[in-house]
Amino acid sequence: MKKIVVGDCCICGEKAAIKSRLSPESFVIAHDRKGYIEYESFLFCALHFNEVLETLWKRVENIW
Ligand SMILES: [Zn+2]
Repeated sequence: MKKIVVGDCCICGEKAAIKSRLSPESFVIAHDRKGYIEYESFLFCALHFNEVLETLWKRVENIW
């Protein structure tokens, strides 16, 4: 049986569970490609996706 690898967490290299538009620094990275916006996507395991979200919420709290 062929093994299908979806990808690895971009922080720890473990098998990724989530694909997100958030970078490891909790920013959304977008490129303007002549008329449409292309978002960069990143792979995370569940643990690191939680960390990315926490970082994002902390930053939002600081702004508000
Ligand atoms: Zn990870």
